[in-house]
Amino acid sequence: MKAEQLRHPKPRRQLPLVGMPVTPGIAIGPVAFAAEPKLEIARQKISASDVSAQLHLLDDAVTQARKQLTKLRARLANLPEESEAEIGPLLDAHLHMLGSSRLLRMIRTTIEDRLVTAATAVLDVTEAQAAAFFGESDQKPEPGDLARQAEEVREFGRRLLRNLIRLPFRSFVGLPHGSVLLADALRPADAALIEPTHFAGIAAEEGGDGGHTAVMLRALGIPAVLGVNGLVAAAREGSTVIVDGEAGVITLNPGRRSLAAAARQRADFTRAQRTLGRLRRLPSETTDHVLIELQANLELPFELPMVARSGAAGIGLMRSEFLFMNRETLPDEDAQFRTYREVVEAMDGDPVTIRLLDWGSEKEIDSLSAAGLIPETHEVNPALGLRGVRLLNEAPDLLVTQIAAIIRASLYGPVRLLVPMVCRTGEIALVRDALSKVWRQRQRLGQRLPTTLPPLGIMVETPAAAVAAVDFARRCDFFAIGTNDLAMYTLAADRNLPPRYALYDALEPAVLRLISMTVTAADAAGIPVSLCGELANRPEVTPLLIGLGLRQLSMHGGAVLRVKRAVRASTRTACDALAADAIAAPDALTVHLLLDAHAAV
Ligand code: PEP
Ligand code: MG
Repeated sequence: MKAEQLRHPKPRRQLPLVGMPVTPGIAIGPVAFAAEPKLEIARQKISASDVSAQLHLLDDAVTQARKQLTKLRARLANLPEESEAEIGPLLDAHLHMLGSSRLLRMIRTTIEDRLVTAATAVLDVTEAQAAAFFGESDQKPEPGDLARQAEEVREFGRRLLRNLIRLPFRSFVGLPHGSVLLADALRPADAALIEPTHFAGIAAEEGGDGGHTAVMLRALGIPAVLGVNGLVAAAREGSTVIVDGEAGVITLNPGRRSLAAAARQRADFTRAQRTLGRLRRLPSETTDHVLIELQANLELPFELPMVARSGAAGIGLMRSEFLFMNRETLPDEDAQFRTYREVVEAMDGDPVTIRLLDWGSEKEIDSLSAAGLIPETHEVNPALGLRGVRLLNEAPDLLVTQIAAIIRASLYGPVRLLVPMVCRTGEIALVRDALSKVWRQRQRLGQRLPTTLPPLGIMVETPAAAVAAVDFARRCDFFAIGTNDLAMYTLAADRNLPPRYALYDALEPAVLRLISMTVTAADAAGIPVSLCGELANRPEVTPLLIGLGLRQLSMHGGAVLRVKRAVRASTRTACDALAADAIAAPDALTVHLLLDAHAAV
């Protein structure tokens, strides 16, 4: 069943679809859909003591499958009636199989009686059931029906198996160079697998501009749009598509005029990028000489040359999650050290802020599951669960290994250590203890160490950290404001929500007030504060951030020069007035209007 892709029907007329702009630029190319990677399962026996763990894994895979199918079922509403009528019953049949079906009972019994892994049981039972359609029926249904029913059972098994072995649903290998990758959903870990020179552009149905997938796609630097409703259903493999990453518009089957206009826009964009390059050596200061330091965020090491070209004054946020993604085992201290050192050396004396692993929420990291480090019980609300520093405090070895690797890298240039998802002051104390412990232990072993411990800072990305910023400022060396999560947790709205709901917006006055409180607390304590959420990428927001008191911003490397242009066009007094109005505004919509008015002056 190709229900996941829901690619019916395939209109040939020009069709513009609107989503959320993620990475600016224009892409023109043929549509390519991500293919499913090959499932390879080795049949394995287990001991009796492992039965309950395997049953647990099966339960998790079933829960995940139910979620996936429910999501697909909801998407059917975007399809024409006949497609819905064709695919709906198939999804219902799969959902039924996930209930208390005979098939699932047989899988469970097979694990218990034959002492095999959950994956082996799923494979054996679904294959046997599919084969039985041809052997046991007395009613002699049409051969086509039998084949379809057998394929449904196999497809059901494949879904469970993919969930069990955490195989991504997507693979990008073998897709044509220069094509535009379209998908229903992309996980942050999927995005980390994409080779940026391979695709002209990317678009997906799910996701918003504040989610982690958006963050990863920005790192790739190719035009990208997320949250495009109905995209996969309407697109045809191989047909031409235009991605406008600035306006957030996807045009399927563009006509000649649209293609010519897009080609012109693409050339304009390239020219504008070249012009921006001239700003590289100019200072980042307002017209009245307030210096605004611009740093880069780093998601993946291949961004380093782009960061160097941007003239960023160091790395304000290095997300270390990529080191742990798409691998079976955890990276050890040496492997982590080599990567950190490479980044530190590439920055040639400019500071590198390395954030400790921020697992959790929508970031699934397979190596952590394989190492048994993440909670066995399914988290009902992963964004509110064992995320960031909370997991690190539960997994001291993980924390210590990462700290040790960072300390070693700090021999090669200035490094700062950043703690994610902090809500309580005790959480910094735990990390500081671990830092001193590792330091003393390495001293005893005679290991070469830098003269001082790296500064320890926190992400201010929860309302708790912002509201208690005065307390936190006494206990750490710097703040980095993460507006992506700060907005999500303040507004109780998922950062991946599609923009049409208008629930998630980091420009809501409540979020701006928390930013302002954090900056005031940092200034009073005399510690540096930067802002490294996606808001920092947006030049139209730069005057507001300056008005909120920020003097250090960290953003996607590709945005540094655009933001510098905005800084150089700003005047402090006007920025202060803008921020005062925005904080007092009744809602985000008014803040957007204030920004428009400010830009128009
Ligand atoms: C943030 O939350 O704003 C942030 C920078 O961290 P991340 O996007 O990695 O959660
Ligand atoms: Mg965050």
